Amino acid sequence: MKMATEDRKHIALISVHGDPAVEIGKEEAGGQNVYVRQVGEALAKRGWTVDLFTRKSHRDDREIVEHAPNCRTIRLVAGPEEFIPRNDIFDDLPTFVEEFVKFQEREGIHYPVIHTNYWLSAWVGMELKKYQPLVQLHTYHSLGAVKYQAVEAIPAIATTRLNVEKTCLETAECIVATSPQECEHMRSLVSERGTIEIIPCGTDIRRFRAMSKAEARNQLGLEQDRNIAFYIGRFDRRKGIETLVRAIAQTQIRAQGNLQLIIGGGSRPGHSDGIERDRIEGIVNELGLSEITTFPGRISDELLPVYYAAADVSVVPSHYEPFGLVAIEAMASGTPVIASDVGGLQFTVKSEETGLLCPPKDDGAFAEAIDRILGDREWRDRLGQAARARVEAKFSWDGVASQLSDLYNRVLAEKTAPVTLKASA
Ligand code: UDP
Repeated sequence: MKMATEDRKHIALISVHGDPAVEIGKEEAGGQNVYVRQVGEALAKRGWTVDLFTRKSHRDDREIVEHAPNCRTIRLVAGPEEFIPRNDIFDDLPTFVEEFVKFQEREGIHYPVIHTNYWLSAWVGMELKKYQPLVQLHTYHSLGAVKYQAVEAIPAIATTRLNVEKTCLETAECIVATSPQECEHMRSLVSERGTIEIIPCGTDIRRFRAMSKAEARNQLGLEQDRNIAFYIGRFDRRKGIETLVRAIAQTQIRAQGNLQLIIGGGSRPGHSDGIERDRIEGIVNELGLSEITTFPGRISDELLPVYYAAADVSVVPSHYEPFGLVAIEAMASGTPVIASDVGGLQFTVKSEETGLLCPPKDDGAFAEAIDRILGDREWRDRLGQAARARVEAKFSWDGVASQLSDLYNRVLAEKTAPVTLKASA
């Protein structure tokens, strides 16, 4: 049934620093960009009119990008129209709020629901609430309280971030945690107050599917008989790529000369991701792995499912992940996952059933896990099939978007419900 325009509810998804319209794998674009875009498009199919707001970070970028009927990205000018690292964006947020308000006035739209993403957007949402009635839902994507436990140099913005994250948890109408582990961290490290619902991230189970390994390898020009371990993601120290490389060097399967390592992901020379890529390449060379390691760079949307299907195992060695989309993309492709035993990865990867979990930063444990899975093809295939089944049952975008849509409606109804007075006796 086609829904009349006037019946559709407006929602704004705000993602100040993660542009949902950019090519993923470029300029630090990763899970948050994917999440906002996918949630947006899925909600539009469910009858919402969805506007995704972000900061315009290139002079040549279009101000409005239409993704699908009733789903578009709107880029607001707030600060210089160039890439700014996320730790340096805070001072431009008041302008972002002003531009958001002006946009609403110009278009004659009022958003009764906003879903903010990452702490910068949480601040924007809390400011907007001062000017207009709305309900705010928020997804953290990363928690300062967790992140700062693990980094050596705490940035100057840390206090502001921690305050914003706490206030948001206590005042937003609802926080969307993407895993029980993330929810637990919010409660133990941020605040016991505030409402939290757990709704996982999802993935497109039609795009990521179990295709034939032989066909996938043919398409990519990869050897048929070689074992392939695959990493995809941003080049960031916290992704633990070093652990993977050191693990590969210790595997028996490598000593037998039957292993290839593919490390995919975009990077820019001289920027933080380019510096990390060079560091990793340095370790690869130092350990004598350059012959068996390839760096294909950013992998296009069309080829990414083919890479997952071509791999024998996908490795997610992050120091921490609130969710970790890569794990479910690999699983949807029928590829077992070896991941760090942390955060959302404990929720998505079932150790011994859909892959293996290892202590983070423990290259010996990762090496053993790689040998176990690559050393038993039958078990590898069984893990891959169970992985696919788990994603179909729990992490498809359609299911996730339906849970989010129900939540928005519920929160809106609670907020707008008239207060019922108790009848006096
Ligand atoms: N990704 C990609 N191409 C790349 C690098 C990353 O498409 O070259 C995608 C990857 O498929 C996944 C997302 O970026 O959808 C990374 O999300 P994840 O939650 O694993 O990590 P985050 O970037 O949020 O830390």
